[in-house]
Amino acid sequence: MNWKRTLGLDNLSEEYAFARNESTGYTSAKKIPDYWVPTTCGYCSVGCGVEIGVKDGRAVASRPFALHPVNRGKLCPKGLSEHYIIDAENRAKYPLLRKGGKPVRVGWDEALGVMIERFRATQARYGPESLGVLSTGQLVTEEFYTLGKLVQLGFGTNNYDGNTTLCMASAVSGYKISFGSDGPPGAYEDMERADVVLLIGANLADNHPILCQYLEANRNKTLIVADPRVSKTAMMADIHLPLKPRSDLALLNGMAYILVRYNLVNRDFVDKHTVGFAELERFLEEYTPERVAEITGLSQETIFKTALLYGRAKAGFIGWTMGVNHSTLGTATVNAICNLALLTGHIGRAGAAPFSITGQCNAMGTREAGFASSLPGYRKFENAADRKELAAIWGVDESRLPSKRGLAYPDIIEATVTKKIRALWIIATNPLVSYPNQDVLQHGLSNLDFLVVQDGYHPTPTTELADLVLPAAIWGEKEGTYTNSERRVSKVNKAVAPPGEARSDFEIFLAVAEKLKYRNELYPSWTTVEDAFNEWRRVSQGRLCDYSGISYALLAEHGAVQWPFPEGADPSVTSRLYSDGEFQTPDGRASFVCADWAPFPEQPGGDYPFVLNTGRTVEHWHTRTKTREVPILERLSPRAWLEMNPRDAKGLGLRSHDSVDVVSRRGRVRGVELRLTEITAPGQVFMPFHFAETNVNEVTQDAFDPISREPNYKQCAVKVERSGANA
Ligand code: SF4
Repeated sequence: MNWKRTLGLDNLSEEYAFARNESTGYTSAKKIPDYWVPTTCGYCSVGCGVEIGVKDGRAVASRPFALHPVNRGKLCPKGLSEHYIIDAENRAKYPLLRKGGKPVRVGWDEALGVMIERFRATQARYGPESLGVLSTGQLVTEEFYTLGKLVQLGFGTNNYDGNTTLCMASAVSGYKISFGSDGPPGAYEDMERADVVLLIGANLADNHPILCQYLEANRNKTLIVADPRVSKTAMMADIHLPLKPRSDLALLNGMAYILVRYNLVNRDFVDKHTVGFAELERFLEEYTPERVAEITGLSQETIFKTALLYGRAKAGFIGWTMGVNHSTLGTATVNAICNLALLTGHIGRAGAAPFSITGQCNAMGTREAGFASSLPGYRKFENAADRKELAAIWGVDESRLPSKRGLAYPDIIEATVTKKIRALWIIATNPLVSYPNQDVLQHGLSNLDFLVVQDGYHPTPTTELADLVLPAAIWGEKEGTYTNSERRVSKVNKAVAPPGEARSDFEIFLAVAEKLKYRNELYPSWTTVEDAFNEWRRVSQGRLCDYSGISYALLAEHGAVQWPFPEGADPSVTSRLYSDGEFQTPDGRASFVCADWAPFPEQPGGDYPFVLNTGRTVEHWHTRTKTREVPILERLSPRAWLEMNPRDAKGLGLRSHDSVDVVSRRGRVRGVELRLTEITAPGQVFMPFHFAETNVNEVTQDAFDPISREPNYKQCAVKVERSGANA
């Protein structure tokens, strides 16, 4: 109790004092920092520069890092309020070990000792592959790199994947198949310099808001947005293509058909730099405008117009995000996008790129440095020369490197169900909200002998299930680098100390290696993340994702630079891949891919008449672990909702703000607020995926892309009932 307040001697004048400051203006005195620490936003892959204001050792403010090349002095609502995530009440502060069914605070030594003992015992009994690891695009690149070595060479399992498989795996697979390597070829600047920008399944205004300023700055473009919803981004478009759910692949093939048929193919580029044109030409005969119009629901005239605009553009840009990736046809759709770029030569030039816009702040880092989809430096598991080269750099026997990738995320979950995986280490991700078809996941996790969850927050739905919780430092409390969607490497800096006994993920990985007795071999004389970065620079040298010329000092001077960045590269030059027409294939040629459209796996009809689409809202991030703790974001968007077209609602006798249940063959989400809107077409409904309390993944489908293993989050068949109707 504040006795001064009780006696009326404290009128909270300090609490409510205002003051003037050069950078913040007239504001609450509590919010005026002693100093600012430059860093990079820890939410999405746009990679904005942020400064954290620190007062008395606490983060009290966030503002744009004015000199950063990405955001040009702006931030979205999440970036502007990012400091609130640091002091959140639900921060994990101490290791917690389940004893007698209850989580009990223990010291780090005991926590890591038990973890190693249980993991080793499981592996001794069931084989090395019985241990799985799931990480995240939230770590810094140095941590991915360190973790990859630890999992592969220390624990000897290659059943290691990240939550990036839930969002970007199809872009990775598609690029590899078409161009021979992962790596988005373009740059944000291309959105300013293209004369035609086609966005497919990409609601930038909600998901990557700061990128919209690049579009707005381009006054000479035609913006085409293909999206079944009239999303905020579709509202910005010159042409909106309200195509039927999951018909984008047919549209892309139909556009390619028109380009070929009407001589809009760049024959010189195709002849010099590609293979497979003749097969593609034959394959495309099936994609006549008549058939594509039927599949997509678009008019033939609109399909022609879109194809001709793109085909005749001087520089055509195609950007995509989860609308493409979250599909059983995600990889095929990425290949069809790449086909269009190759047919027209819209690649490797200013304004011309097939450009995957990534999800998390450092999804790119895991793709480059991690062990999940490839060996570090985009080396291929199956390529003996790649393995040999990497083993030589590390000074380890080549046989210790895997010759094929281990299980992907969904297959790790499936292996918990079949009990092939018995112990699991989950790092900074929350599958109990984010994984499709929660029933299967919960069944799998309940089979585990030992579950470790390492996270900056506790409790979360996932940490609550853990046998051991390891408390981790988060954004603002640790150092490293993130790489954004345009391959720009940006420094992440520590502004404040982590709470309680929480440690950075990097420190945790080194401590685990120490206990395993691998620290000296894997991380000789490493003490800081910069040591990891400097080794990663050597490992990436000469590769497509060459970091060798980047140093922490260079990043401090220039804010952020794009790879490839070999020694002596010019930080002011915009970098594009494949400008010379040389691709990452043995013969240097890119491949046309015949990617056939098919209807999505669970069609609506009968008892389940609606197609459910899922996605994000600008206020929240993924499973809301962080943004739920930011008062302004939470007040703006406190609960989930279901969008439905008024015509459908009329048929069901439902009205706006009614409480409804969303039901699929797999489960039921109860008590969702109904919103009636023409944004969503008849026969479709939309729901955001952030909310643990009303988790849309109770009903989504565990169907996956056969190549990338990315989930088909975007379409499943549901019915909508008034809440309580079936009680
Ligand atoms: S656009 Fe993305 S990176 Fe930029 S401030 Fe918003 S969340 Fe952060």
